[in-house]
Amino acid sequence: LEAKEEFRHKTLATDVMRPRRSDPPLSVLTQSGMSVEEVERLIADTTYSGFPVVLSLTSQRLVGFVLRRDLIISLENARRHQEGVVSVSAVLFTECDPPASPNAPPAVKLRSILDLSPFTVTVHTPMEIVVDIFRKLGLRQCLVTQNGRLLGIITKKDILKHMAQMANRDPDSILFN
Ligand code: ADP
Repeated sequence: LEAKEEFRHKTLATDVMRPRRSDPPLSVLTQSGMSVEEVERLIADTTYSGFPVVLSLTSQRLVGFVLRRDLIISLENARRHQEGVVSVSAVLFTECDPPASPNAPPAVKLRSILDLSPFTVTVHTPMEIVVDIFRKLGLRQCLVTQNGRLLGIITKKDILKHMAQMANRDPDSILFN
């Protein structure tokens, strides 16, 4: 039992988070600088339930998290009902509008659908604690950072898969349930 206890503590958020080293990088949105067309393409090319929003691709500083379904509804709404919105319109998650050229088409402002404080842990957080937080807070996903940079995501399903793998490796580790 003691050995198992130690094993449990040794699994860290970094061991469970996606993307894996061989996976394509995390699909993120930037808080400004993307067009309606670009965001629509990201939605079409992926099936993820949500997307982290970052300050910039270089900083990878987390700004918030947006659900796929909210993004789809809001973009459809803007296309349909917001005067002048076209494919090259900017999508903004910012508080204030960044400077735009005077003849730029109107921007689609989506800060209202952004979860500004998504749950985050660091790569070093033991999975035991992550699992506990998921249970207690009823989370669907949580983001993983290192030194303030967004590195990955863990969904409820990722945790369940991880637990199943553990149970396979060691049937006695029913402790996980
Ligand atoms: P679920 O895990 O319930 O199927 P998703 O469809 O959102 O939920 O995620 C599928 C897989 O992709 C999970 O392993 C998850 O960690 C990963 N994932 C989720 N969101 C993203 C994202 N924005 N970019 C890259 N990978 C993601």
